[in-house]
Amino acid sequence: MAKNPGSPSTVLLWSAEKYKAVGHCIYCGSSDNLSDEHIVPLGLQPRGGDWFLPKASCDRCADITKRFEGLCLQGTLGPLRAKLKLRSRRKLKTTTERTTNHRDDGRMETLTVPLDEFPMVCLGFDLEAAGLLRQARPTTEFVGRPIVRYPIGELEKQLPEGIALKLGRVAPREYARMLAKIAHSYAVAKFGEASFIPCLSDIILGKCDYAPYYVGGDKSGALLVDQPTTLHHVYPQACDLNGVPYLLVAIRLFAFMGMPRYLIVVGRITEGNLEQLRSNPL
Ligand SMILES: [Zn+2]
Repeated sequence: MAKNPGSPSTVLLWSAEKYKAVGHCIYCGSSDNLSDEHIVPLGLQPRGGDWFLPKASCDRCADITKRFEGLCLQGTLGPLRAKLKLRSRRKLKTTTERTTNHRDDGRMETLTVPLDEFPMVCLGFDLEAAGLLRQARPTTEFVGRPIVRYPIGELEKQLPEGIALKLGRVAPREYARMLAKIAHSYAVAKFGEASFIPCLSDIILGKCDYAPYYVGGDKSGALLVDQPTTLHHVYPQACDLNGVPYLLVAIRLFAFMGMPRYLIVVGRITEGNLEQLRSNPL
């Protein structure tokens, strides 16, 4: 068992999964210039633990997903990823930028410091459930708040009194698009495209702004247990809404840090091979 959640000595569990090649882009349908799609972004995976779907994203869609993932991976989760030595297309970082604000004189100071001098913190969101699951009208506005999780004593250890520290940037829309991409590609990998009518492609590609209708926090009342050795937890769910079966994907990134679980609606179930999910509604 892990001693201190989030300590570098924690043993984190994650497996490698490779799925069947798709042969066209799972977002726009194009067959041009296909590359492998990382279901959980590469930068959130440990070395040797890739989950990927071969030949599943065209270069145009890959450019779009790379942009919002980059904002989340660097701005929101950069120092944590470096501390955990998660994968990176660039050279592994050993330092990070630390911006502090001295409350007595208002002085702001940005220094490049070794990673050890930045606290182990994880940023995320406590979001209202997806609008569709609440049977609310579609909206473009997220309701919720950013949250920070860290091991007990971590911030006190790093921060003398009277000093505020910039922990990172949070962008709910980009974060929601990253969750939508994980959910959609996971559902395609696990069940195949014929199993559901997808509803996330336009949100992922930035053509539709109604992400809060499909992406939200897990407010189902399902127990959120401690997962001290789990890096990320992704699994399928289903629910019936007025007799219509929907496929959902539950995502808990950095589960071992006590982060919340999100529940994403990926589409309407169309095939009998998801019968087992339908008989297990939320
Ligand atoms: Zn595409």
